[in-house]
Amino acid sequence: MVNRTEAAVLTEHGSALTLRELPLPEEPEPGAALVRITCTTLCGTDVHLWSGRMTFPGMLPMVLGHEMVGEVVAVGPGTTDTLGREIAEGDRIGWSESTCGKCHGCAILREPVACEKRGYGFLQRSDVFPYATGGLVRYCYVTPGAAKLLLLDDVKDTWASMSGCAGKTVLRAVSRAGGIRPGATVVVQGAGALGVFATAVARISGAGDVITIGGPADRLKTAERFGATSTIPVDGTVEERIERVKELTDGRGAEHVFDFAGGPTIGEEAVAFAAQRGTVAIVGSTGPAPSPVALGTVMGKELTVVGSLNGDIADYHRSVDFFRTFADRLPWDELFSEPVGLSQASQRVESMSRLGELKAVIDPRLP
Ligand SMILES: [Zn+2]
Ligand SMILES: [Zn+2]
Repeated sequence: MVNRTEAAVLTEHGSALTLRELPLPEEPEPGAALVRITCTTLCGTDVHLWSGRMTFPGMLPMVLGHEMVGEVVAVGPGTTDTLGREIAEGDRIGWSESTCGKCHGCAILREPVACEKRGYGFLQRSDVFPYATGGLVRYCYVTPGAAKLLLLDDVKDTWASMSGCAGKTVLRAVSRAGGIRPGATVVVQGAGALGVFATAVARISGAGDVITIGGPADRLKTAERFGATSTIPVDGTVEERIERVKELTDGRGAEHVFDFAGGPTIGEEAVAFAAQRGTVAIVGSTGPAPSPVALGTVMGKELTVVGSLNGDIADYHRSVDFFRTFADRLPWDELFSEPVGLSQASQRVESMSRLGELKAVIDPRLP
């Protein structure tokens, strides 16, 4: 069995990733699998972790990457996917983060995202067992607690990878918002991978107008190719954006507003964009910094404001299904850059931090 793996390791925020050999567990535990990564897509969170904008005491060294897919090369006893199907060597699997199954969040609320021990890339150091759980590795250890899913052959690697975070996050947010009424006007705050994908999901879900707000200009062009009927650049003022949404909605505002951006004025803008009895879903606002909201507007417009945190294996499953169902509807490949090997992962994280590409793709089988 493979007992070591090459990995691109983050040892210091803002510095180049270091290529290192990491040990692998000797044998997969019951319920675990060892996977040869065929595709890892990078997420905004990877960029924030790399730069140090997002940091936790004692988190380094770590391996970035939490959107990935691979082929099983070794499997522990009794390892099944989340639907109870046996996982064997040679199978292709995707997975969501690990949960404990026993805490209040898991067992009483039955919400995996509420697990007190939710295992995610940045919570797992690369110098302690099981070492290689992030995506920027040749071989990845998929822990017993990680919810796994066998993938059908018609699911592209990029789709499965993106479903691991961005895809499931968007589909959960739409579900938390109560779905999208056919013909409704939707505002999407943000034109990164989440915002562009949310634009596509809103349009395919039957939205009438979809107004996507973000930047830079090439991303707004991408949003248009993915279903935005109007776009608004973020380089104007808050008042200008609010005025523009009013113009585009005959003064009524949007029935659904989705925050996939975060930022100090996001809350204020979101409730201003919303129509009477509209829904505001907060997805992109992370961290402790406040974003003031006019509660009088929430009251006066009778708004429903919901938070939506990432997603679980159900949302992952929905995301994979969404890509399969609408494979030919939109040019999904445009979301993804050309794949590169681990040796270029560092440059790709930096390039994403400069908004140089929407979604970098790493194929660790490449040199
Ligand atoms: Zn739990
Ligand atoms: Zn992510």
